[in-house]
Amino acid sequence: VVQIYAPLTQLTNARVDLMTAFVSFDRVFEVLDAPRAITDRPGAVDLVDPEGRIELDGVRFRYPAAAEVSIASLEAEAGMPLDADASTEILHGLDVTVEPGQTVALVGPSGAGKSTLVSLIPRLYDVTEGALRIDGTDVRDLTQESLRAAIGVVSQDPHLFHEGIAANLRYAKPDATDDELVAACRAARIHDSIAALPDGYDTIVGERGYRMSGGEKQRLAIARMLLKDPRIVVLDEATSHLDTENEAAVQAALAEALAGRTAVVIAHRLSTIVDADQILVLDHGDVVERGRHASLLAADGLYAELYRALLRGEDPAATPGPDADGDD
Ligand code: ATP
Repeated sequence: VVQIYAPLTQLTNARVDLMTAFVSFDRVFEVLDAPRAITDRPGAVDLVDPEGRIELDGVRFRYPAAAEVSIASLEAEAGMPLDADASTEILHGLDVTVEPGQTVALVGPSGAGKSTLVSLIPRLYDVTEGALRIDGTDVRDLTQESLRAAIGVVSQDPHLFHEGIAANLRYAKPDATDDELVAACRAARIHDSIAALPDGYDTIVGERGYRMSGGEKQRLAIARMLLKDPRIVVLDEATSHLDTENEAAVQAALAEALAGRTAVVIAHRLSTIVDADQILVLDHGDVVERGRHASLLAADGLYAELYRALLRGEDPAATPGPDADGDD
């Protein structure tokens, strides 16, 4: 982990650019490891005024060998062994269309490929085969700057720099006025908590600063996304159990934040899943079921099983599926 993070200190000056470009893509090591190899193609075009249609057309994916360097840290984070062979195919030919404004919920056991799938949308990696298109254009033909400007990523555990809350928020929009910060934080249901702190928006957060709760951090990440105002949102809902108050606040914030945007959500909350326009059930790198809640429940397959586990208060995405114990 130390080795992975070491380059960050050398990159302090580039940090603002990096964080603006990759706003809230908080698994910073992924950002540093992955896209180095990814450059704009000559003649790459800007994604202008995106509508937000996402298409995966026969997408197959294996991690590039260079990604191996981060496996140890990923394992430490995941608390379980990951594939030792980085060249294993992770996604086996996915065909998915997300219409502009739709919310898609990705569900499935741990290791099914949900995070991998979403990492392809901001092009942290290139597909191995097939294509991923936004508004009909292959992401490899788009400038990365315009692609990443169109996509907001809200992670489970957003990284906060050891700086004031306002400064952390401005990574999403450096020229945001104080009023804009407050408006975003109100919409994200975090303003009252911030205003109640002795130093308010100047409160230092991060490692050695004021420790925000999981729910507060998530809402701050949502506020950052709102400031960025992207057409497409990639969201990793938290697995951690929030208290009821935080849960309700996060839910209200999300409903408002996702309205009118195309959203791809690694879903852990029942409400997100049940309300989704489309649910994709992933298992071992395949979409094994798709549709809306009622029809999937009626089909009584893997979705119904996952749903019942969630109802019991278990999180199927936090544990490998019944047959995902590494023997394949
Ligand atoms: P979870 O719910 O636990 O996050 P997931 O459905 O998001 O699981 P992924 O994290 O996409 O699943 O993992 C799918 C497969 O890809 C796993 O076998 C994992 O070991 C592998 N994998 C994930 N990240 C990398 C990486 N950077 N390099 C190599 N393999 C990886």
